[in-house]
Amino acid sequence: MSVGRVKARVEQAEIPMLRAYRLWFEHTRKCGGCKGVAAAQDGCETGRELWGAYRLARIGRTP
Ligand SMILES: [Zn+2]
Repeated sequence: MSVGRVKARVEQAEIPMLRAYRLWFEHTRKCGGCKGVAAAQDGCETGRELWGAYRLARIGRTP
């Protein structure tokens, strides 16, 4: 397998993760319950769901 193919596979795996992270990050900026919390788990229910989806995407699973 070529280096280019390996790189493409890694990038494909990163896209859902980055998208999930961005969704959570944008939520924390708009949500009064999540803004300024020390940990994502301390946020509101929606914030925790978004964070959970990000964690699943990070280990390569879809929620
Ligand atoms: Zn929230």
